[in-house]
Amino acid sequence: MVIKILNILGNILLRPFREHFVFLIIFFILATSCYIIRHLVIEINLIAAFTTAIHCFNISYIVTLLIGLIRPNALRNTVQGVLIAFAAIDFALNFYCICQLKYFFDADIALLILETDSNEAREFVSAMIPKWIVLTEIAIYLFVLFLWWLSTRSNFNLGKKTSIMALGLIVLCIAVNLYCWNVWRDGPIARFSEIPQYDIPSDLNTYYSHPQLSFKENNHFPDNVVVIIGESFARNHSSLYGYDKLTNPRLTELKNNSSLFTFDSISSPAPTTAISIRDMLSIFNQSDESNKEKKWYEYPSLIELMQVCGYDCYWFGNQACANKNNGTARSFAYACDRRWFLQKEGVEETNDRYDIILVDTSYQYIKMLSSEKNHFIIYHMLGSHFNYRMRYPKEFAIFTENDYQKDPQNHREILSSYDNSILYNDYVVGRIINMFKETESVIIYLPDHGQVMYRNSNNPDYYAHGRDNDPLSFALGIDIPFFVYASPLYQQKHPEMMERIKYRQDNPKTWNSDNLPYFIMDLIGVKEINGENIKPKSVLN
Ligand SMILES: [Zn+2]
Repeated sequence: MVIKILNILGNILLRPFREHFVFLIIFFILATSCYIIRHLVIEINLIAAFTTAIHCFNISYIVTLLIGLIRPNALRNTVQGVLIAFAAIDFALNFYCICQLKYFFDADIALLILETDSNEAREFVSAMIPKWIVLTEIAIYLFVLFLWWLSTRSNFNLGKKTSIMALGLIVLCIAVNLYCWNVWRDGPIARFSEIPQYDIPSDLNTYYSHPQLSFKENNHFPDNVVVIIGESFARNHSSLYGYDKLTNPRLTELKNNSSLFTFDSISSPAPTTAISIRDMLSIFNQSDESNKEKKWYEYPSLIELMQVCGYDCYWFGNQACANKNNGTARSFAYACDRRWFLQKEGVEETNDRYDIILVDTSYQYIKMLSSEKNHFIIYHMLGSHFNYRMRYPKEFAIFTENDYQKDPQNHREILSSYDNSILYNDYVVGRIINMFKETESVIIYLPDHGQVMYRNSNNPDYYAHGRDNDPLSFALGIDIPFFVYASPLYQQKHPEMMERIKYRQDNPKTWNSDNLPYFIMDLIGVKEINGENIKPKSVLN
């Protein structure tokens, strides 16, 4: 009896080698090999690669064993097929990310792709996926297909003796795996613990929280408050902040005339768009532990706060994501009294409208704004979203590769097109400011986040968004410019506030733009939100 049970058990344990060996090999290649490649490519750590390979071999064996138990055979074959299909997609993504970005494909990159539309994804492909990666992936797919084809022609499975030896090897591998059990953190299992926290309500208005505000005595609200949300603007590429190329000539002139004030030491809440915008436009603060009990959209949004103060809210957006269900920007835009999505309406597939459309469209509305009312206007720019060279018309192609002789050859095209996009941004922001200069207006400009722009010494060829899982990359990706424009009329009517703004320009304070609502509340004379003194979180304090 005991011998019989052992016999059955032995046969089951041998089945991955005797019946499903080709699945085991293909699964190992597609679902797990990237975890090994990572150690070879990024850290060049052979020991880590070896222990991870053992771990991956164990995982592949266990998966093959479990799937081998499925009956009937047709169902088992289907499960195997589906799993291999998913593994193949996962392999393509991971292989690309490891070779090019030096990171694993994760929730962060998934969000980046989710929040771009198909056209932006195409731009990303053309800008950042080298041919050799695509060719290698195709070669590996062809090899896998060849293995599978071979297995249908001849018996690919192992014989009884070899299978017993292989089982012995697995026992050894599992023992090694248990000895250095921490290796699971480098393998496929760890990936399942990373589930993105990304939750956007279909209608932010449903969550209006009706905040209680208290105001300064004899407060006078400025007529217009404008927030310009830029895109992917790295502070160190702005001549307002000492960059050696004149990327911000118009804004620098305004600064020299004392109508524009730059703040230093400002960072964004995240290096990616959706999370940054979520945190900038609501009083939810992801780093605040006490903010864990509620969803972000259950906190008052900046739009709601402005509406409580009597402001009519307008949104002019030039980002395609604003029109889709997957952008936090879209939720805020819909919370406004009126909104315009200029980049992509209806079925239009292009993403090539330059940001000047924000001026061209809003001009007629700004001209007609009633002086009886207060207005809160948000511009959401496409700014320097990759692909950089698609963000400016050819008249703004001022910087060329020749201007970057000190930089490596393979960085020059990107650097020049990036700086041209910053130069064009300067022009558009200057034109927006121009629309408000005769009125009592205060304008705040900040991008959603910065860009790494080849500054990460651990990954010198990387230029895009900062990365959550690399502290240096993250810090570079959230380093942003931040400035306030005050019209002559505003300056005349708010001398006290102007003193505070000038003081902050001369005395920088480390501040995160997730506190933007507190700064704007401070700016317009609010003292408390639901009993909370807003001053400590304002950049001016
Ligand atoms: Zn962004």
